[in-house]
Amino acid sequence: MQKITYLPGVGPKKAELLDKELGIRTAEDLLRHYPYKYVDRSRFYYLHEISNDMPFIQVKGQILRFDKTGEGRNERLTAIFTDGQKTIELIWFKGVKYICDNIHTKMEYVIFGKPTAFNGKYNIVHPEIELASKLPPPEQMGLQPFYNTSERMKNSYLNSKILQKIIFPIVQSIKTGVPETLPAFLLQRFALINLTDSLVNIHFPKNADLLNKARQRLKFEELFYIQLSILRQSKWRDLHTTGFVFGQIGHNFNSFFKDYLPFELTGAQKRVLREIRADVATGKQMNRLLQGDVGSGKTLVALMSMLMAVDNGFQACIMAPTEILATQHFVSIQSLLGDLGVNVALLTGSVTPKKRIPIHEQLRNGELKILIGTHAVLEDSVQFFNLGMVVIDEQHRFGVEQRARLWRKNIKPPHILVMTATPIPRTLAMTLYGDLSVSVIDELPPGRKPIETYHYYENKRQGLNGFIAKQIELGRQVYVVYPLIQESEKMDLSNLETGYESIRQTFPNYKVSMVHGKLKAAEKEYQMQLFVRGEAQIMVATTVIEVGVNVPNASVMIIESAQRFGLSQLHQLRGRVGRGAEQSFCILLTDFKLGSDTRKRMEIMVRTNDGFEISEADLQLRGPGDLEGTQQSGLPFELKIANLAQDGKMLEIARGAALEILELDPQLEKIENRVMATQLSKMKTNTLNWGSIS
Ligand code: ADP
Ligand code: MG
Repeated sequence: MQKITYLPGVGPKKAELLDKELGIRTAEDLLRHYPYKYVDRSRFYYLHEISNDMPFIQVKGQILRFDKTGEGRNERLTAIFTDGQKTIELIWFKGVKYICDNIHTKMEYVIFGKPTAFNGKYNIVHPEIELASKLPPPEQMGLQPFYNTSERMKNSYLNSKILQKIIFPIVQSIKTGVPETLPAFLLQRFALINLTDSLVNIHFPKNADLLNKARQRLKFEELFYIQLSILRQSKWRDLHTTGFVFGQIGHNFNSFFKDYLPFELTGAQKRVLREIRADVATGKQMNRLLQGDVGSGKTLVALMSMLMAVDNGFQACIMAPTEILATQHFVSIQSLLGDLGVNVALLTGSVTPKKRIPIHEQLRNGELKILIGTHAVLEDSVQFFNLGMVVIDEQHRFGVEQRARLWRKNIKPPHILVMTATPIPRTLAMTLYGDLSVSVIDELPPGRKPIETYHYYENKRQGLNGFIAKQIELGRQVYVVYPLIQESEKMDLSNLETGYESIRQTFPNYKVSMVHGKLKAAEKEYQMQLFVRGEAQIMVATTVIEVGVNVPNASVMIIESAQRFGLSQLHQLRGRVGRGAEQSFCILLTDFKLGSDTRKRMEIMVRTNDGFEISEADLQLRGPGDLEGTQQSGLPFELKIANLAQDGKMLEIARGAALEILELDPQLEKIENRVMATQLSKMKTNTLNWGSIS
């Protein structure tokens, strides 16, 4: 399609900015740059109607006088504007000369902008201003689009208004019709309007009803093609890749189950193991996501899955995001396995080169059965004899490329189990992991008491200290978590180190350990072990302990400046307690001044322990782009118009339609499906292929 440099009002400089800042290169890209909001310009306001928190308004009137102050960068122009009854100040910091030269008193203007209150008076900074005689009558102005732009674009006078002017003629030119991207039978079935009408009305809506219809159609199109792409890839993989067959349940698995397991498996653990067992017997490569709330016993499922591999002559590997966590897996897996005789090793960044030699060798000759490690296992020097099963713990902590490297250690892909304690809401899982099978552990081991959560303000600290002392006297241990160390001074935050000092002063008779990300691995491990062995009663830490740490005797989690944490992070942190049989507590400490979102987060935490409920709430509050668990890898595609928090229902419908179509025509070869094949091949970002990257 047409390069934008040649469009009216664009030129090489603006074209470059549009490309760099928004990835816009063609007229089609511009058409797909949808407005993020609309402002109704079909009505004029009177100044006496202005109240707090008003959106954009337009007022008709005259400027009574100008007042210019300051020079150069401090220059400022104020105009007193009246609608004939009341007055308001219009303020300019930039473009003062232009306004002075072109805008005059005693002429009728229409001003447009967002009023703000200052010192009890309203003003509008940098309003749009236009001669009243030059504007079309209000009923023709209708809904005006607003476009996202970047800071750099705004500084180069490429703001929403200019974008609107660039896009307007393109929209005019397509009114004769653009090629449809959805097949007619889908438009009909879901009563969707065509692409031409949708694009016209998404930019310059004739009325609210057509805007709504345009939105529906474009959202559907977006979600449908994401699903179609994911599902087609997974169908292709099903047909073309084979996996190792673990035909038998053997000696290690059976005797572990009979003689070594210290407790009964929960019903959910058994069910998930059956699901995994079924997968690995099929001859297809397993790609399974295991979701289970913190403390639900995922490690055990991982271990028993790895034993299935070992019993079939394969090696297995479990990878964890931090050294602390990998070490903890190693310790607990070794103790679970006891004298069963399965050869297990730990490989992390701090294992010395000398100690690596035998590990590397035993991996290559197949003597070593289970490797537990961090990113260190990805290094090229780590070669397996026959890697049959890979478990990735807390998968969201790993980048896509890292996971792909593990997969490539074999010619034939190993079975893959990715585990996460950050439950992903259903709608998000469907888009993000559209082609993974999902297992859920929805049951905690018996005897756990639900954690009691409280939200306290700073003024309760005295009482809290008394409570900490009581818990320690009962033999329990306590975590105190801080958001960051040495946060910028501007922010008035509790600081880890001063917190540590004050805790030591408050509890001179107890031992306090301190763990944070900046410690050397050995020191971190030492401080960690003090707490794990029960020698330290209190551990002061940053979020390094967020993931996976398991000290069942710890019964109190105190979270300082809790307002600084996201919901799922709070939930993760809380999951560090409540792992033993004792009643556990989580205390959220915050400032008095809280925004409404923060207050909601605290309320949700106090109300529920259910990870799924929390992640749904998180999705609603923050939107999917920010959701923890997706932050690092990001969504594998960009959503321009659909919103996973709001459009879950439509996503399911779109997925259903995509499935139905692929069922009959997996490669979209039929005539009536061609349009979809073409559209898929045009999609900018190919969705991730989890089969090869997990
Ligand atoms: P997570 O799912 O958060 O990784 P873990 O695997 O660390 O949870 O398990 C949490 C704790 O629960 C561990 O101490 C583990 O030994 C224990 N556990 C796991 N399964 C059971 C069970 N079926 N019955 C009792 N305790 C269990
Ligand atoms: Mg875990």
